[in-house]
Amino acid sequence: MFKIEKADRIKELPPYLFATIDKMKAEQIAKGVDVIDLSIGDPDIPTPPNIIAKMKKTVEDKKNHRYPSYEGMLEFRRAVSNWYKRRFNVYLDPVTEVLSLIGSKEGIAHIPLAFVNPGDIVLVPSPGYPVYSIGTKFAGGTPYFMPLLRDNNFLPDLEKVPEDVARRSKLLFVNYPNNPTAAVADTDFFRDLIGFAKKYNIIICHDAPYTEVYYNADKPISFLEVDGAKEVGMEFHSLSKTYNMTGWRIGFAVGNANVLEGLGQIKTNIDSGLFQAIQEAGIEALEGDQSPVEEMRRTYLERRDALINGLMEVGLKPEVPKASFYLWVPVPDGHTSTTFCAHLLNKAGIVTTPGSGFGEAGEGYIRMALTVSKDRIIEGVERLKKVGI
Ligand SMILES: *Cc1c(COP(=O)(O)O)cnc(C)c1O
Repeated sequence: MFKIEKADRIKELPPYLFATIDKMKAEQIAKGVDVIDLSIGDPDIPTPPNIIAKMKKTVEDKKNHRYPSYEGMLEFRRAVSNWYKRRFNVYLDPVTEVLSLIGSKEGIAHIPLAFVNPGDIVLVPSPGYPVYSIGTKFAGGTPYFMPLLRDNNFLPDLEKVPEDVARRSKLLFVNYPNNPTAAVADTDFFRDLIGFAKKYNIIICHDAPYTEVYYNADKPISFLEVDGAKEVGMEFHSLSKTYNMTGWRIGFAVGNANVLEGLGQIKTNIDSGLFQAIQEAGIEALEGDQSPVEEMRRTYLERRDALINGLMEVGLKPEVPKASFYLWVPVPDGHTSTTFCAHLLNKAGIVTTPGSGFGEAGEGYIRMALTVSKDRIIEGVERLKKVGI
């Protein structure tokens, strides 16, 4: 009999930790429950109209119908460079220090292939975006999890990484503003990180898709703002969360030219670049009217405050996020991440994400996303008040 046998790298994938919640959600929906889904890390707000208009126009242009360049159109890379200068006061050479990506997830998944040999370690945050560790394993590397704990403001404690682990590490992933904890990093942390990277010769990959989703006057910073950053690393960025373009698949890598060259070599052999009409729309996003971004921040702020106030009324103690569209909420005594998620779903029809699904150190928390309307959030809070925690 013909046998289809999957490769070990697939067989060894960790079990899908959200499977139980997905199943329970489907059961509630089947029962006719009007489910409020706070588990989705995908903006519900549409892409701004100026970006859509640009796409409509440029999709007609037949020069955009051919293969794009591997590294991205120079005009797009210039727009990225100008945006970094305006937003972070960071200079990027558009030719060597900017690379277009088919969404930042694509670059994150591929970068270990460029730098990790079997047996190498990659330092990865826990809780964290699962692609860091899975991309590492696909490349034959071993993830070493750095816990993000409240006592350390959800920053990894670099001093706790054992010496022999640090010596064998090739890459280190961090992500601020953070998904799922909503923590932000400051200059001091990035400075320490650069010192650590230099001491052990570790390439820093900073994943930064949420820098524009902020609530305070002190905006989140770029890793590349800090002296020495470009020497040791790079940053992943994306138009997905800033311009509500998750479905368009457009992101970019910026920073150290040699690191980008390695990633580019992998990509050249796997994909053939990013549809030029989407890059044109990306230029419009970065250089056109920015008022939709301000409006987006106001919308998330209203939702955040409605949810925070409601959660506090029922006796929960959420961290008030300075950035990102997530709330990281400690579960009440007597619950685990999954039992509390199950309680919210089965008693109040509210879907949340168990923190443990993002890694062991996420146990004891749930993540709530602000990707539903304020009205639905208020409805959810009313239900919670009735059933209690
Ligand atoms: C949403 C998200 C991404 C992926 O963004 P794309 O550019 O859409 O691939 C990367 N990292 C984190 C932490 C995210 O939450």
